[in-house]
Amino acid sequence: MPELSDRTANFTDSVIRRMTRISNQYGAVNLSQGFPDFEPPQEILQRLAEVSKEDVHQYSITWGAQNFREALAAKITHFSGISVDPNKELVVTCGSTEAMMAAMMSVTNPGDKVIVFSPFYENYGADTILSGADPIYVSLVPPKFNFDPNVLEDAFRQKPKAIILCNPSNPCGKVFTRDELNIIAGLAKKYDSFVITDEVYEHILYKPNVHTYMASLPGMKDRTITCNSLSKTYSITGWRLGYTMANEEITDRIKKVHDFLTVGAAAPLQEAAVTGLKFGDSYYKDLQEKYTHKRDLFLRGLDDIGLPHTVPEGAYYIMIDISEFGYASDLEFAEVLARDVGVGAVPGSSFFREDENRYVRLHFAKKDETLNEALDRLSLIRRKIKYR
Ligand code: GLN
Repeated sequence: MPELSDRTANFTDSVIRRMTRISNQYGAVNLSQGFPDFEPPQEILQRLAEVSKEDVHQYSITWGAQNFREALAAKITHFSGISVDPNKELVVTCGSTEAMMAAMMSVTNPGDKVIVFSPFYENYGADTILSGADPIYVSLVPPKFNFDPNVLEDAFRQKPKAIILCNPSNPCGKVFTRDELNIIAGLAKKYDSFVITDEVYEHILYKPNVHTYMASLPGMKDRTITCNSLSKTYSITGWRLGYTMANEEITDRIKKVHDFLTVGAAAPLQEAAVTGLKFGDSYYKDLQEKYTHKRDLFLRGLDDIGLPHTVPEGAYYIMIDISEFGYASDLEFAEVLARDVGVGAVPGSSFFREDENRYVRLHFAKKDETLNEALDRLSLIRRKIKYR
């Protein structure tokens, strides 16, 4: 057989998705890959049932159905104050996974440098390899996951084409403050770099934290490519509805990449999801309350068990510190946790550039009964996992 491509040789499959398969294999409560086990809003499901009888079964416009983009633009302006042209500045993609890849392909040439904060959502590593970019990692330092502005400026001195910013952040739950975002924006302007954001957890925040949109900061609209999705906000991760928002010149490039990668997101699902994009403020308030309740329930449970953990400001992930068990490999620990305790988690090392082995990530986007079952199982962790 001829040799396969170098570009696909240098990364593994997703550890997050692999842990879902391992959890299923052991019948574990799967708190690894972040997706809800509760239903999406009934209004959206109701509309989905209706659209099957409507004329929406062929391709939509490649960069997204007109009514979807218009509803999306209105929602974005409502929450961020950013005025967005639905025809020129939005591309509807197959999840924010495609949005991020299309953004990277549109702004970087092979060999360009891209700053990535560590810990980071594992897709960004593969995205840099697939687009041929060279990552420069800048640490978010536990326990607060702050960055050192001088270290960040050193990274910018290497003239990166872009910085990737996940805010609110997966996996560490950090919500970047306006001051921190201003530092990043100032450096992006000073060194003439793009900011590619991943803001899929924009509505999953815990008081008193608030979300600041990078593109809303002075002078940043033209150098920010915002990647986002409906997956987390409307509990529809399987629908694969994401989008990019950027100025017309950047969007023209993203449209081309998107067109040849996927042609478009599923037309009937776009039609059904318009219902969600038109929800009033109370939906988002309720979502925040629901997740605050789940976070508190889960943190209290972990405290009762005595497992040290991070406290997220946003998003729905917690990293627990597993150093007491003495494992050299968190991958091995995560497998033992799924097998012997019956809880699926993601090894922390899949998010860190640093040699970090002391965390596993759990998520709490689950029904209370699922979380309680996971906590019951975790309460036996010290009996079921042998210390090394
Ligand atoms: N963002 C989710 C996580 O980190 C899952 C994303 C995915 O698998 N596409 O677990």
